[in-house]
Amino acid sequence: MSSTAGSGTKSPANKKASRRSRSAHEFHCARCGVISRWMPGHERRGPPAGWTKKGELTYCLACRRALATESADDYAPEGTSREDRAKLRVQALIEFEIKRDPDRPNGEIAKVVRCSVPAVVKARRKLESV
Ligand SMILES: [Zn+2]
Repeated sequence: MSSTAGSGTKSPANKKASRRSRSAHEFHCARCGVISRWMPGHERRGPPAGWTKKGELTYCLACRRALATESADDYAPEGTSREDRAKLRVQALIEFEIKRDPDRPNGEIAKVVRCSVPAVVKARRKLESV
């Protein structure tokens, strides 16, 4: 999508912080490079809300959403129209949000994804039937 995402290999921004080693309370998104820190005195175990850790890599929520929609795009059969691809991405995003927090109300997920509540209900049924 964008060429700015590959900052993981050589990031000049790291020079400044090179003296201070990464603390357990600091998280770098492996995709967009955003850094999240717990405020001193407010440290919690694990990455911030919405973040995920995959092996050594952590991803912020925005990138997790992007990755979910991108992989839906990747799995779309060749010849899929732009419109259908857009639908697949929305579908993937709804499913991602449901899996991320299954207890969240449908209306809230619909608002985040910008889709209809019935679309969320449908996706939930689909996930439950698997
Ligand atoms: Zn990110």
